[in-house]
Amino acid sequence: MTAKACAHIEPPGAPELNVDRVLAMQVYPAEALATCASCGTGYLLELLDMQGDQCAYRVAAVDKTAFAATLKSLDKGSCDIQRGRDEIFNLAAGALRLNRVLISRAGAFNKWVVTAENLPSDSWQELPMDGSWLARLNQ
Ligand SMILES: [Zn+2]
Repeated sequence: MTAKACAHIEPPGAPELNVDRVLAMQVYPAEALATCASCGTGYLLELLDMQGDQCAYRVAAVDKTAFAATLKSLDKGSCDIQRGRDEIFNLAAGALRLNRVLISRAGAFNKWVVTAENLPSDSWQELPMDGSWLARLNQ
């Protein structure tokens, strides 16, 4: 598996990502599969923080072939939810975490913030969602 970020998602450009599949919701999407609008490179988005209508997402590039296979498998329906979860887990395990965070406002991707900070690796369900990351990243 090779996971590599494409050149189209470099800040300060506006985030041109299409959400293909929302995997979990927390008012706004908490976990999602998205693709670059220009080249179709796949990304895994995971909620880092949330405050009001703003969300911050961790972004990881995923292997193109594995991404396509996972989407196809999810499209087949929900007859085997566990298998779907396993595929996403495998996809995430081979993903390349990027040193930038995606900020959204009212559900629309707003901007990229590059950060040198170590982002938590915990699942979004384990994170406080208290606006502290947004406050730091939006400075
Ligand atoms: Zn691209």
